[in-house]
Amino acid sequence: MMNNDKMDPFDCLIVGAGPVALAMAKALQLRGLTYSLCGELPHQRPNSPDLRTAALFDGSVRLLKTLGAWPYVEPLAAPLVAIRIIDATGRLFRAPEQLFAAADIDTCQLGFNIPNPVLIDAFQATLKTIADANKNHPDEINLTVKVTAINVSDSGVTATLADGTSRMGRIAIAADGRNSITRAAASINVRTWNHNQAALTAHFDHEFSNQAISTEIHAATGPCTVVPLSANRSSLVWMEQPDRAAELADLNDTHFIEALEFRLAGLLGPIRSVTSRRVFPLSSLIADRFAANRVALIGESGHAFPPIGAQGLNLGLRDVASLADHLAEARLAGKDVGSDEVLNAYSTSRSADILARTYGVDAFNASLTGGPTGMLRGAAFHATKASPGVKRFLMERGMQPIGEWPSMMR
Ligand SMILES: Cc1cc2nc3c(=O)[nH]c(=O)nc-3n(C[C@H](O)[C@H](O)[C@H](O)COP(=O)(O)OP(=O)(O)OC[C@H]3O[C@@H](n4cnc5c(N)ncnc54)[C@H](O)[C@@H]3O)c2cc1C
Repeated sequence: MMNNDKMDPFDCLIVGAGPVALAMAKALQLRGLTYSLCGELPHQRPNSPDLRTAALFDGSVRLLKTLGAWPYVEPLAAPLVAIRIIDATGRLFRAPEQLFAAADIDTCQLGFNIPNPVLIDAFQATLKTIADANKNHPDEINLTVKVTAINVSDSGVTATLADGTSRMGRIAIAADGRNSITRAAASINVRTWNHNQAALTAHFDHEFSNQAISTEIHAATGPCTVVPLSANRSSLVWMEQPDRAAELADLNDTHFIEALEFRLAGLLGPIRSVTSRRVFPLSSLIADRFAANRVALIGESGHAFPPIGAQGLNLGLRDVASLADHLAEARLAGKDVGSDEVLNAYSTSRSADILARTYGVDAFNASLTGGPTGMLRGAAFHATKASPGVKRFLMERGMQPIGEWPSMMR
């Protein structure tokens, strides 16, 4: 890459190389804003690859379609027709088993389960198509570079890259995850808190069909969730206290399968095989605003929480679609895309959705791991079971933004 020091700034500098950064690049491309994406793809460890998958709901799937990524994703995406929740907390006042089915809200499926690498590859493929079509396109994408420093000035934001070159944008979009240096450069504060939990991930093959139903078994240490990858293969997100998660991950395949069969209590029948395991430490984070000082936060740079109810990436993709709307409108009106006016409008528009998800997941998690909210949870589940109206309301709230759908998700 050539040094960009002497060139005009890009409209946008995207820092990061996760699914949210790549979706943002594609959204800007479609909206006609110029960008430079600088990031480092997550390192894959040969003996324990990242086997995370994302259950993406309707709005996210519509965004993938708008961005042109869906044809690459669809052959490898597993439809989800229902989410089942089983209370295994062993408490006196237990919640009844719940099935949240697509039919309850008059649709064919709730969403699709997609492996993270499939999403990353799909976004890269769509970005390449346009770059190939127009060799003079000024946008640039570098997925192998570390950003070592970010400097904010009155006229723009400059990223210094590990190769010694720099890039400047009128706005920087922080898609560099929880420990975002872009967020820090804009002096945006975050509140963080720990849960004494970790998530163990793996894929496994099982005898019985999962019937395209995702099942969450709620134990007092957190949920153990199995999400369909195909009829007889599922992905696993097993939340436990960190020591127990590490202990489980270290078991050999035979002993791990025994432990998993015990946890699933026969739900998917005998387990035939399992992949390597990887453990993700869990914590929560929320920024005190979602844009300031020429920097906008998207994805986990602005909010992070435990993987319960498949909320994280769905929320991050709503950030992407919303920011694309704000920047495109600003551009159309001839405004500076990094101005306080544009940033404040974006931050305000995302606040309710982000606060509700972050604290909602936190409260739900706390209701499992102890405390007075456990009783409330049981009561809420009884009410949901008794009333289709309450169930529909909860399902729609879990899958839709608070506020309007951004235009790319309609
Ligand atoms: C076990 C598990 C299961 C989950 N399941 C679901 C689910 O079913 N549904 C759902 O919606 N969400 C789910 N999530 C949440 C989802 O995985 C995250 O929301 C999503 O990965 C966040 O994406 P991101 O792009 O914001 O951040 P990240 O994926 O963290 O990406 C940040 C990127 O920035 C790069 N980067 C950081 N700093 C720099 C730097 N200085 N220079 C260059 N590059 C840099 C990193 O290398 C990385 O590529 C799950 C999470 C976990 C842990």
